Amino acid sequence: MVDGGIAESEIMKPHVAVLPSPGLGHVIPLLELAKVLVVHHGVQVSFLNITTEASVAQNQLLHPHTLPPGLRVIDLPPADISTLVSEETLVLTRLCINVEESLKPLKSVLMELGKLQALVIDLFCTQAFEICNELSIPTYTFFTPSTSFLAFSLYLPTLDRDVDCEFIDLPAPVQVPGCTPVRIDDLLDQVRNRKIDEYRWFLLHVNRLPMAAGIFLNSWEDLEPVSFKAIREHPFYQKTPTPPVHPIGPLLKRDAATTESDAECLAWLDEQPSNSVLFVALGSGGTLTAAQLTELAWGLEMSRQRFIVVARKPSDASASATFFNVGGDINDPKAYLPEGFLERTKGVGMAVPSWGPQELVLGHPSTGAFLSHCGWNSTLESITHGIPMVAWPLYAEQRMNATMLVEEVGVAVKPVVEPGKGVVEREEIERVVRMVLEGEEGKVMRRRARELKVKAEKTLNFGGSSYESLSRVTKEWKAQHL
Ligand code: UDP
Repeated sequence: MVDGGIAESEIMKPHVAVLPSPGLGHVIPLLELAKVLVVHHGVQVSFLNITTEASVAQNQLLHPHTLPPGLRVIDLPPADISTLVSEETLVLTRLCINVEESLKPLKSVLMELGKLQALVIDLFCTQAFEICNELSIPTYTFFTPSTSFLAFSLYLPTLDRDVDCEFIDLPAPVQVPGCTPVRIDDLLDQVRNRKIDEYRWFLLHVNRLPMAAGIFLNSWEDLEPVSFKAIREHPFYQKTPTPPVHPIGPLLKRDAATTESDAECLAWLDEQPSNSVLFVALGSGGTLTAAQLTELAWGLEMSRQRFIVVARKPSDASASATFFNVGGDINDPKAYLPEGFLERTKGVGMAVPSWGPQELVLGHPSTGAFLSHCGWNSTLESITHGIPMVAWPLYAEQRMNATMLVEEVGVAVKPVVEPGKGVVEREEIERVVRMVLEGEEGKVMRRRARELKVKAEKTLNFGGSSYESLSRVTKEWKAQHL
């Protein structure tokens, strides 16, 4: 069950376990936290890996040879959830059922680990609170989305109590205390229908946020000043039990090229002029409908800009179709991109099937813009490389992120969907791609992203606010360990 081991020199260090829920948007930042704890804060970490329905990309990420000493991956035994989920089960419900079943052996796994200073869990693993309570292990939550989404989540139980109708029928935006109001159109899918399991699961887990000893956030003060101030100072959060909030981000993975396709992609980028390439990727789960994928391809071609697109088989059924199997379904993009597209754009663009080396591409000097689904990790990766974005939200809280990036942070442009059309049309895609790579607006967005990049570097360095924020917590763990 245990991959790798902990050297004797590590035994004197405080020991913390980290438990992500499935999905790379959760596993990646929790793994980065684990690495930072081990490498910079003198903590040894056991990383508890939920193996049920783990994607190929997740298995590759947790390959033990790439991990620093002091960090070991412990695979939780796979659970059989085949009778509990079906093709129709929605993404969060499936994820939560997976976690519930996978965590059945958690108590014995934690007991086997010996004395732990803390367990750090993902938002959707709150079953761990009771278990850790029995074992007297302080439990922290690493909230992987934005701080403004944390404010919304802490407010949701109150909204649930005070509002009778569906939230999507409210006459005005949701006024989250101290924060920018959330437009009804931007509400995440999980709260758009209060009668279904998606909502019940989401509410269950956010209801339990106050049980945490502290909440880590993959963000920093300069990026979300309003939301941090609200959670710390607004009377609503002072009256509701709100754990101490620790901004420790942006925590980002540092990729190494692993596959032939990664190397090919980077070699091609080496030959392109600086800031000239648009990277198109929709996170781990994001998929487009067949009609939208066709428009996107035509829009890219018509823009006459350079691009790399992470291409996936379209799905008319779900915008998050690859969430549980990303990296496993490598197919030939020719089969679903418009006929002749790859030939006509040869030399100007390339299509990478299923999964690309996103962090390396965003960090490459030839990359000039990112068409992204606005998952929080992708958002942070873009900003910390100083790259402006075309915001293309698909599911979860991505619409809220997109609005924030366009209207508050000023690093993104959002394509307009003509009323009644249902897809972003090719001319609009051409317009925004040109704007972000060549236009004056694009230059302003790039300048803003670069300012934030510099601030992000400062906050993570010794003495920076995120570094110190994590240091304070690890010092407490060390003091208890002595
Ligand atoms: N990612 C990647 N290659 C891809 C697509 C995604 O490396 O082709 C990584 C990306 O760098 C990010 C993560 O997967 O770290 C996606 O997380 P995010 O929160 O942006 O979106 P989610 O997958 O949760 O929707």
